[in-house]
Amino acid sequence: MTTELTDDERYQLRKKAARVIAAALRQTRNEWHHLDPGDFRIMGDIAVDALGDLSIAVDALGNSTTAQPTGRCYCGCGKEIGYGRYFAAGHDKTAEAAFLAIHHGGTVAQMLHAHGYGPDDAKSVTKAAVDKGLWQECPRGCGYRGAQESINNHVNRHHREK
Ligand SMILES: [Zn+2]
Ligand SMILES: [Zn+2]
Repeated sequence: MTTELTDDERYQLRKKAARVIAAALRQTRNEWHHLDPGDFRIMGDIAVDALGDLSIAVDALGNSTTAQPTGRCYCGCGKEIGYGRYFAAGHDKTAEAAFLAIHHGGTVAQMLHAHGYGPDDAKSVTKAAVDKGLWQECPRGCGYRGAQESINNHVNRHHREK
């Protein structure tokens, strides 16, 4: 499910994103006496934080073409795999770890934070998944959230009645 943006919407979004990032970096410019390598990551964080909700729209920009399976592993290792698959066995985890290391200091918490999610109920990533209609809440009201399949397993395991 991707949102197709018109060229004009794309252009307007990019312009808006650039403005928001520039403003946030200008505001913090006193902190940039001389730039250390690590500063660029901080700049990245500032930029993403500044984007806030806009980052979701920018995500949609990046995803306006969906990844297609090509018969070769998406981690980039070069392995040939069965057509219709994206990864050799286990390589999705390797790719995910590398991506997190590059973009989010190697931690899921930083990734969630960068996308505006956090421990508060209002920022809950699992609640957002339910609100978007992608995930479900446990129908017995215990607070568990998951994909339909996980909900079925969960209800069978934890709420089974005789
Ligand atoms: Zn691979
Ligand atoms: Zn439950």
